[in-house]
Amino acid sequence: MSTWNYDWFPLPGQAVFDLNQQHVTAVSRAPGNLDLFVVGNDGHVWSTYWNDSSGWNSDWFPLPGQAVFDLEHQHVAAVSRAPGNLDLFIVGNDSHVWSTYWNDSAGWSADWFPLPGQAVFDLTTQQVAVVSRGAGDLDLFIVGNDSHVWSTYWHDSTGWSADWFPLPGQAVFDLEHQHVAAVSRAPGNLDLFIVGNDSHVWSTFWNDSAGWSADWFPLPGQAVFDLTTQQVAVVSRGAGDLDLFIVGNDSHVWSTYWHDSTGWSADWFPLPGQAVFDLATQHVAVVSRAAGNLDLFIVGNDSHVWSTFWNDSAGWSADWFPLPGQAVFDLATQQVAAVSRAAGNLDLFIIGNDSHIWSTYWPGPDVSMTRLIDNGPFGSKVTMVVVGDGFAVADQDNYNSSVDALLTNGIFTQDFYAANKSAFNLVRLNVNSNQSGVSTKTYDDSTGKVVSTTTSDTYFGAIYNGDWNHFWVEDGPNTAKLLTDLLNQWVPDYRLIFLLLNNPGFGGSGGGGRLTLPLGVTWSTVAHECGHALGALADEYHLENEAYTGSEPSQPNVTINTDRTKLKWASYVATTTPVPTGNDDYTPPKPKGWDDNQDVGLFQGGSADYSTGIYRPVINCRMNSNTPPFCPVCNAAMSAQTKPYLLARPAGGPNVSPNAPGDGYMRMDVSLQNGKLSILEAHEVQGPLVQPDTLTNGLVSEVSVDDQRVAVGAHPDASVSHSFQEPGHGPGGHHISVRQNVEFVVRVPIGALRGVDPAKVTLSVFELQEHPSTPLSPLVRLAEQPKLKLASQSSVTLDQVELPATLRSLLQKK
Ligand SMILES: [Zn+2]
Repeated sequence: MSTWNYDWFPLPGQAVFDLNQQHVTAVSRAPGNLDLFVVGNDGHVWSTYWNDSSGWNSDWFPLPGQAVFDLEHQHVAAVSRAPGNLDLFIVGNDSHVWSTYWNDSAGWSADWFPLPGQAVFDLTTQQVAVVSRGAGDLDLFIVGNDSHVWSTYWHDSTGWSADWFPLPGQAVFDLEHQHVAAVSRAPGNLDLFIVGNDSHVWSTFWNDSAGWSADWFPLPGQAVFDLTTQQVAVVSRGAGDLDLFIVGNDSHVWSTYWHDSTGWSADWFPLPGQAVFDLATQHVAVVSRAAGNLDLFIVGNDSHVWSTFWNDSAGWSADWFPLPGQAVFDLATQQVAAVSRAAGNLDLFIIGNDSHIWSTYWPGPDVSMTRLIDNGPFGSKVTMVVVGDGFAVADQDNYNSSVDALLTNGIFTQDFYAANKSAFNLVRLNVNSNQSGVSTKTYDDSTGKVVSTTTSDTYFGAIYNGDWNHFWVEDGPNTAKLLTDLLNQWVPDYRLIFLLLNNPGFGGSGGGGRLTLPLGVTWSTVAHECGHALGALADEYHLENEAYTGSEPSQPNVTINTDRTKLKWASYVATTTPVPTGNDDYTPPKPKGWDDNQDVGLFQGGSADYSTGIYRPVINCRMNSNTPPFCPVCNAAMSAQTKPYLLARPAGGPNVSPNAPGDGYMRMDVSLQNGKLSILEAHEVQGPLVQPDTLTNGLVSEVSVDDQRVAVGAHPDASVSHSFQEPGHGPGGHHISVRQNVEFVVRVPIGALRGVDPAKVTLSVFELQEHPSTPLSPLVRLAEQPKLKLASQSSVTLDQVELPATLRSLLQKK
């Protein structure tokens, strides 16, 4: 939950400004950037800036050039006409409007220059208004000496208009007291506002297809405002929206609005609440920090800055409130400047009583979501989620590029993952930690005791220990719960989580549907680990020279069987290939053109530790040394898992009772502890559910109603934890432990459970002792499928366990 900074603070530097006559101008030229401008005590325009990666500049500096301006009467107007561009305007001492500009590639213009034309304006009473109605466009407005509103414009393609011109119509305004307010509510649109001589607010507009309105017109309603002291503030909170604000004659802030679909509100109305403001000296500042949001600011009668807000879902705040902190400002001379440097952020500026510029901020959301690979609803695809820990606001770019390198531009550009990309969704959550880098812990390996720790204030509190014996990484006390809570809020369903730690280390751990890894781990290691997590594949390497003496392993890509006719990958072995085929290499003579990665035989050594007694399909596979593609046997096992998710399928999938149209499914977090099943949590997920039609070896689950199977799930890595590491950075291999408390996810179509007697719903869990090579027979219960070698782990009917409220009420529904 975001909150306002605890207090205002002065911006860095020695520069001071004229508290009585100057106001700060603030603009954001690109997300994460802030640029401030103020006429300095030397008549030059001064600036300072913020960007998210380097923070505030160390001090203010004068813009290049000789031009000086009227410190007493003029304020800078600034706008960004395109990302990375800044354009500044001010009435010069010759009464012409002057400009200078910045762009990210060329920097600042060498000096200010007067805009083309003969038109001159009132230096002592007028201020220029500027707005950009489209990329590369600038439109300027000012009340002319004839009391009409004048304009000039820039387009990137044609440059500046030859001169200023009066806007069409007869309407005249108060040159001495009023300034134009201008906004663009949608590309190609301009809307102007000013308090008219009749004390009503008047408007005119432009759009690219129809040009200027024939004349100005008063906005609907009876409300009148103080022509001599007040100025209208206007903002667009969304395309086609306009919201106007002004301090009314009763000292409350009044508003009116336009929507493209409904037109103008019938009249102005006071905002909710008791707060009143100084009609004679204060003007409202308004900004939209994100679509559908409005935030208003004004110096209150207690000299604190007050705020109120609107959002489209909740409406107006009940009243205005003072921003946190002790700082007070000069009510009689100062105005707040407000800007949003990125969606959800607010930054405020004002000249303080010490003549320095002060600021406070709303930090924006701690969490945001981006769907990097979006192939459909979460339940219709194998949805992967990546979340970072120890990435502060300034680290988010680095986090994003790490996610790209590992996943989007990493595994998803490779063999199986690239070929089956349409079966996946990839969701990135950006989570801001307060501090950069995760906590660390160092163990003494001889005693197993912790010898040192560093603590970092991160969102999840995850820890990097860099120790193979301790799985390289470990959770903090709340890591698992915080992850679950966050995912429940943002990603209602997912199969695999990547928790990326901001630490340069080289090892991580997997299991239970999660991979936790630091930044030193590369995409090829992740591609290998996903072979375990999604395909229940075995390692094909051997780091030790042990002899395997166990029974036939359950995984599809290792075997003890040397009988060609009964070999589980027999169909991939050419009749001309000898069985066994070799050990670390083909037993000579190796056939010409033999492909070590794609040509299948029977090679001795595998399952991490064993050089004899166990065999693998190829000389070198991704399950052996990470970088090569999956061998044909591994690729087939992986593809069997993703095949049902490749195309859009009807809700329910081919093997389970169909879902009613529009129905979603229940996602249940199930725990298996000491043979006892419990349902920890259940929530409804909208959209279609596609179920697997092929199981993997390892833990599998089944839900049946009246002895008919309605849901099935494979949980390849639910019951083990294992470490992994970047090759060359550690002892190698996996450190494996069996999880004491196994948790996994069971998904059941809503239609299969609605109004069903809990005694008729059975949840069963099995250990599948071999990797089935063929799809399941539709609807037949697992125990009745003759080819499956199952060992029952636990089974309950839903009347025997405590049910989460969501599930209980679904079962009770008619
Ligand atoms: Zn393989």
